[in-house]
Amino acid sequence: MSVTTHALTLDADARTADQVAMFVDGQFVPAAAGATFPTVDPNTGRTIAEVPRADGTDVDRAVAAAKRVAVEWQFTDAIARAALLRNLAALVTEHADELARLEALDSGHYLAKASELMGAIPLWLDYWASLADKVGGRTIEVPGNKLSFTLLEPLGVTAHIVPWNYPLLIMVRSCAPALALGNTCVVKPAEDTSLSALKFAELVKEAGFPDGVFNVVTGFGTEAGASLAAHPDVAGITFTGSTETGKTVAKLAADHVAQVNLELGGKSPTIVFPDADLDDAVEAAVQGFCSHTGQVCVAGTRLFVHADVREQFLQKLTARLEQTQVGDGFADGTQMGPLVSQKQYDRVRDYIEIGKTEGTLHYGGGRPAGAPEGGYFVEPTVFVDVAHDARIAREEIFGPVASVHSWSTEDELVEAVNDSIYGLFAVLLGSDIKKLLSTARRLQVGGVMINDWFGELPMTPHGGHKQSGTGREEGIEAVHGYTQVKHVSVNLDPSLRAGSDWAGAPL
Ligand code: NAD
Repeated sequence: MSVTTHALTLDADARTADQVAMFVDGQFVPAAAGATFPTVDPNTGRTIAEVPRADGTDVDRAVAAAKRVAVEWQFTDAIARAALLRNLAALVTEHADELARLEALDSGHYLAKASELMGAIPLWLDYWASLADKVGGRTIEVPGNKLSFTLLEPLGVTAHIVPWNYPLLIMVRSCAPALALGNTCVVKPAEDTSLSALKFAELVKEAGFPDGVFNVVTGFGTEAGASLAAHPDVAGITFTGSTETGKTVAKLAADHVAQVNLELGGKSPTIVFPDADLDDAVEAAVQGFCSHTGQVCVAGTRLFVHADVREQFLQKLTARLEQTQVGDGFADGTQMGPLVSQKQYDRVRDYIEIGKTEGTLHYGGGRPAGAPEGGYFVEPTVFVDVAHDARIAREEIFGPVASVHSWSTEDELVEAVNDSIYGLFAVLLGSDIKKLLSTARRLQVGGVMINDWFGELPMTPHGGHKQSGTGREEGIEAVHGYTQVKHVSVNLDPSLRAGSDWAGAPL
């Protein structure tokens, strides 16, 4: 295996990167077969760098490394694992600017947002560093003279298959608990956005993690991703991505009975009650479907606006969208960058055309004036007069496209919102807290924000109902996704024969 000795370098002015290598067993290496693929700047459509294209051989090497050190890592003192995570958090802070530029260039996050995201990543590392030596099993009261307790143990080798919308954050939110709780990791970033994970790998090495504990293989989902999900030595898989691919990964995992956490797609509602502060409601709605150009799992792309305030809301929405600056992510003042890829651009444009046949175009629908040539830019787009069963109202578009639906009664609202295969998230805006909470309880979703827009945090659980996923990332709830339970029972009688009562044993 040849080894690349130099660190990944970014030429921010030329918008190119060099020395892009995978991270396997503590070494930076090319793919075994020498294959590469281009990663592209979505602002311009130009190639940033060639990235190693891993196949099954590379995945085998990464999993073998992670397996070799799994027991040693499991029995490393939790306090020592935590110290390494804290070293890593400090290094991420030190390199936040470079990470932000890489993330912005590769994923299309505008630079100010990418900087905010990178600044927040240490929170996840610190949160799990703090919990490393605090979570554990429990004692259980059982009949007889026995001590019965559980141990929470790591799974072993864990795979982390990551999407392209929040590449580093989503990787860290699952790797931080996995590492803190004694698992080793093999990461497969999305093919569109590998660079920040590879830079992060350099920081993992510098922080002092033993070789093999953390590995990154880059490549395509159907090659590297599928090989990783199918690998018999992978004991746990965290998959974040589309519902369709999540089902494939779950089937691959089932063949070797790996534990699976699935963080999948959504079609989330933003619900405006008649007594809402409409300026706030408009702000939440715009954040909801335009944040990261609508490429957010919790994107609020179904706007349920009470009939009494629909016209007023639409006027304010138009005025707000007219102020939204769409353009190159590195330009001052940009609030909405490009879509991630040509593929995603074509998909969103197709849905806009579908929307024109299913409803009335209220706003946008085109290419923003002045957007750089070659980049994957679309305007924020709003449709009205859309039936609940229209494709644009039911399918996850993953772009800044929303449909507006009006409602009159709570029952009608709840029925329409819940009539979805997804159940990720909902935003509710209004003044009557009893009504808001009563509606929140009836929604089949994994998370609700009231008079607020989504803010991801390490301490609050995130995940979906229905086909939006299983398991939870973040919060103490995520412990279950990275541990397994061992029950231990100790007979405290002086001898087994003295205390035994076979007749009474409930076998
Ligand atoms: P995707 O499903 O196309 O890809 C996700 C990852 O899976 C990528 O790394 C890809 O290479 C890999 N992959 C693809 N095919 C595979 C296969 N056969 N076997 C194994 N791995 C495979 O998703 P995407 O387009 O990258 O991301 C967008 C989707 O992610 C949206 O549906 C969005 O809602 C979802 N998402 C969910 C959350 C959440 O927390 N619920 C967060 C972010 C994104």
